[in-house]
Amino acid sequence: MLYVGVDVGGTKVLAGEVTRAGTVLRTARRQTPGRRVSIELVEDALTEAVMEVAGGRRIAGVGLAAAGFVDATGERVMFAPHLPWVGDKVRDRLSRRWAAPVALDNDANCAAVAESAYGAARGATSALVVTLGTGIGGAYVLGGEVVRGVQGMAGEFGHMRLVPDGRACECGLQGCWEQYCSGNALVRLARARLESEPTVLTQMCEGRPERLTGPMVTAAAEEGDLVARQAYASVGEWLGIGVGALTSALDPEVVVIGGGVSAAGDRLLAPARAVLERSVVGAGHRTPPRLVPARLGPEAGLVGAALLARAARWSGSARAALTAQGVVRPRPGAAAGDYRTGVRAPLRRRRGRGARGPW
Ligand SMILES: [Zn+2]
Repeated sequence: MLYVGVDVGGTKVLAGEVTRAGTVLRTARRQTPGRRVSIELVEDALTEAVMEVAGGRRIAGVGLAAAGFVDATGERVMFAPHLPWVGDKVRDRLSRRWAAPVALDNDANCAAVAESAYGAARGATSALVVTLGTGIGGAYVLGGEVVRGVQGMAGEFGHMRLVPDGRACECGLQGCWEQYCSGNALVRLARARLESEPTVLTQMCEGRPERLTGPMVTAAAEEGDLVARQAYASVGEWLGIGVGALTSALDPEVVVIGGGVSAAGDRLLAPARAVLERSVVGAGHRTPPRLVPARLGPEAGLVGAALLARAARWSGSARAALTAQGVVRPRPGAAAGDYRTGVRAPLRRRRGRGARGPW
């Protein structure tokens, strides 16, 4: 049974065949055509990537991890900053085009599902997954299922307002957590000290602050550069502040930190743990959650999407179309619109067999 997961990001589309154990067997990559192009062009790129992975084999299901807001039923992409979809019924349209069932979810949700099933949160009853990239992505996974909220918009942790009248955020609010704790924040902190203090970062960006990138700051911190290390310490402290607030609200068993910024490991996590221990409610009388790095890396989104595709039950209209095409067998007595993306049942089966992921 061929299941394909697809990470649909702002710059690239990454598709991969994912086994039941969460192993990625073969991948295909395409550039994302962008936001100001036709939807057809983007979906052509997705189709090319999926078909390259399939290589002519029959597809049992495709999971899409989209960098955007997905409605609570997993049917539409409501809005995506870097993609042309606006309120589009992406799931059913692509399901018909590919003659295969499609599951759709937000990319951070998919990554959280993968970390819960195969990664750092494996076996945990409740897990908070925070992804530090350009901004902050995240999800709260309870009992193996992502908590999505009424409109599917839960988990936007990065836009919790931690600083009243603080830095303006792209979302339109001010003082959002991701303005202080993200790849962008890391680069901004380092950039601000570039001209006034000696740092290897000046050489790395060839004296052009606008060329400074997150990976440069990470490399400089590894070399012992003080400016880079202090930028990491600041981002780490803000990480602890935000995770402390979320812990006070949700009391998770484990907090998984992923994304490019998390490559710095304890340089980021040690200051975060110190602040978390002090800032969580009941400090001194409770055990703070484990704060651990993610284990799945950049393929987490597509692995989680493929897992959702395995777990999904299909909407009435998609199933009817696929049944008419002979792709799926009719299911007697099925109600329309009974789509679910919960992963509880497959996880139980997987644990029962003792299968392990490759990580
Ligand atoms: Zn914001």
